[in-house]
Amino acid sequence: MSRSTPDPEVLFVGGTGRSGSTLLAGLIGDLPGAVDAGEIRFLWQRGLLERRLCACGVRVPECPFWSAVLTRAYPRGLPDPDAVHAALTRRTRLRRVPVWLWRAAPPDPGLLGQILPSLYAAIAATAGARVVVDNSKLPTYAALLATVLPAPPRVVHLVRDPRAAAYSWMHVTRLPDGGPALVMEQRGVLRSALLWTVWNGVLEALWRGRPGYLRVTYEGLADDPAAVVAGIAAHAGLTTPPQARPPSALSHAVAGNPHRLQRRRVIIRRDDRWRRGLGRPAGLAVSLLALPLLRRYGYPVRPPR
Ligand SMILES: [Zn+2]
Repeated sequence: MSRSTPDPEVLFVGGTGRSGSTLLAGLIGDLPGAVDAGEIRFLWQRGLLERRLCACGVRVPECPFWSAVLTRAYPRGLPDPDAVHAALTRRTRLRRVPVWLWRAAPPDPGLLGQILPSLYAAIAATAGARVVVDNSKLPTYAALLATVLPAPPRVVHLVRDPRAAAYSWMHVTRLPDGGPALVMEQRGVLRSALLWTVWNGVLEALWRGRPGYLRVTYEGLADDPAAVVAGIAAHAGLTTPPQARPPSALSHAVAGNPHRLQRRRVIIRRDDRWRRGLGRPAGLAVSLLALPLLRRYGYPVRPPR
């Protein structure tokens, strides 16, 4: 990659799954100067090894956008996707959290330090964008990016009521992306609540107070998407067009929620089915497990029905 190309900025959408992040990343990616590249941490496993569909409808190894990105990033040959996937899994797993939180010096990124900067630079250059929107969500992956990229990512922390997320994780959602799984992963309500608490807490512990951190809620996004996107644009130095632009015709977001495979942008509407569908015992269990952050984020402990 030519060094005359300025280093791209990365806008990292962080938090837990089933929080509307695919929609949010798509809205930010439609702003001039930005590109939504999807859940980039899954490029190696779901994109290259499992050959799942890119948002453009073509399998990732055959997608012209990702082919151009990989050729530009690795002119001497593609790194072994198995090795990259294994290194990413090792660096970002839950038990590594104490290393990221409390070790004075970040761990040596090894192979990942060599291959990730050129990947992000190539995504920006191929898309003609200055800001790469990465919807990878996992806090430890954001911490890894901060150690390997020329500038740490800006983090948009997306939070959703944990009872709504738990209700969403309970349900079977078809996953027509050509991969080995025909449905999206499901989680029980207790596991969903625990992971909601851990990942949101870890993301805050790693990023709160840094200049690049901004927290938004799914509920705020659903109620007034234009205002939330304008706030994020200001945070990232992007401009919002004076009039709403139509969503980009073709996205190359890799991995993630099947919404990204729909050509027509889904209208964001508050999904409150959980209020009746989750049930009182499950709702109470989630509320208790999530209690400290639930209050911190302003969600009522006892939600109105
Ligand atoms: Zn594509």
